Amino acid sequence: MLPAELIRKKRDGGTLDDAEIRAFIAGVTDGTLPDYQQAAMLMAIFFRGLDARELATWADAMTRSGDVINTARVKRPKIDKHSTGGVGDKISIPLAPAVAACGVAVPMVSGRGLGHTGGTLDKLESIPGFRVDLPVEKFAELVDKLGVCLIGQTARIAPADKRLYALRDVTATVESIPLITASILSKKLAEDIDGLVLDVKAGSGAFLPAPKDAQNLARSMVDVCRRMKTRIVAIITDMEQPLGCAIGNALEIRECIAFLNGEAPEDLETVSFALAAQMIRLGGHAKSTREATRMAYEAVSKGAAAEKFRQIIRAHGGDDRVMDNPDLLPQSAFIEEFRSRSPGFVTRCDAKLMGLASNALGAGRHRVDDMIDPAVGILLLKKTGDRVDRGDVLCRIHWNNRERLKKALPMIEQAYEIKPRRRVARPLIHAVLEG
Ligand code: URA
Repeated sequence: MLPAELIRKKRDGGTLDDAEIRAFIAGVTDGTLPDYQQAAMLMAIFFRGLDARELATWADAMTRSGDVINTARVKRPKIDKHSTGGVGDKISIPLAPAVAACGVAVPMVSGRGLGHTGGTLDKLESIPGFRVDLPVEKFAELVDKLGVCLIGQTARIAPADKRLYALRDVTATVESIPLITASILSKKLAEDIDGLVLDVKAGSGAFLPAPKDAQNLARSMVDVCRRMKTRIVAIITDMEQPLGCAIGNALEIRECIAFLNGEAPEDLETVSFALAAQMIRLGGHAKSTREATRMAYEAVSKGAAAEKFRQIIRAHGGDDRVMDNPDLLPQSAFIEEFRSRSPGFVTRCDAKLMGLASNALGAGRHRVDDMIDPAVGILLLKKTGDRVDRGDVLCRIHWNNRERLKKALPMIEQAYEIKPRRRVARPLIHAVLEG
């Protein structure tokens, strides 16, 4: 069928058969389909959606548009975690070694910072020497030997998604649940995993702020994975305020090291262990979530997770002395204390504004080729629900450039709300869905 006929079919509410979907994605991949027809199809899907069968085929065709990483040599169950992205969301970094220390292999292809949200790769690269661009063959070797490897997406993983995502970005079709579902899954399934734990964020700092949208995305991912016979658990977690206390690359690595050494902010610990437990359970290493949670706690409290992270750093060419001496991580030249102007309670510490402020300091990019400053960021001393007196330090701003600091300050000012009456923070875990 001609591409225009396929677009018309979807535009008019029809369903595409498997051969039509595969032909369309083949045209995207080999470049024979012009951008305007790709964009028209994306808009038709935006309005008409894809049913579960169409979606599973669409995601599978995108996965097969590139290489599926060959991890056949890995005999352990392979389970990955994906987060829809947030502010201060550094969970992958302590989670991967904790889960690997419990015997489950974690083949993790991660991303860079996007918009106001940070990226695992940028954070890891703040460790001196740490390389995320290991070749795919090395990736499989490390997942086998060490139980874990963290690399960036390569041009060979789901290239059709790369093209379609770039078009979605400029045609107002990013916010489509089926297109997001296929996009995320196409990359995750290219890791040849046995199961996936998905952290869908909801709240101001989330990609989809409305809990209803987060719920719909989680449901869609679970439905497609069930169809594709990939085990999945989706947890909807809160992103109304940043996770943990550190925002910014090296600051977040410090917080991860502290976590692995047994000292973590409670929210970071709660969400990390909830995700780790599901990974361990899906990997078949525990019969219940309760048992899996205990295993994850033990991996951290007995030091096995920290030791695994040390091995990961070494395997990626990094300086593992940071585990004992985090001062070896990049540090900003200046620290500014941001103080409360009134007494009361913190009723808001807005995740999105804090993420934007951290980016303004230089922790994130405005354009893909921008350089980031690994040392800058924000350390929160007070979060929602905390009591403050006038003059108390709400957060510490780690900065290197005065112009950038001037841009960040009004956002931090706006992110904090202090009111006379206490408001408790929202629940950290909104829902758990399983496929
Ligand atoms: N993340 C992705 O990988 N794809 C989307 O479409 C949205 C978020």
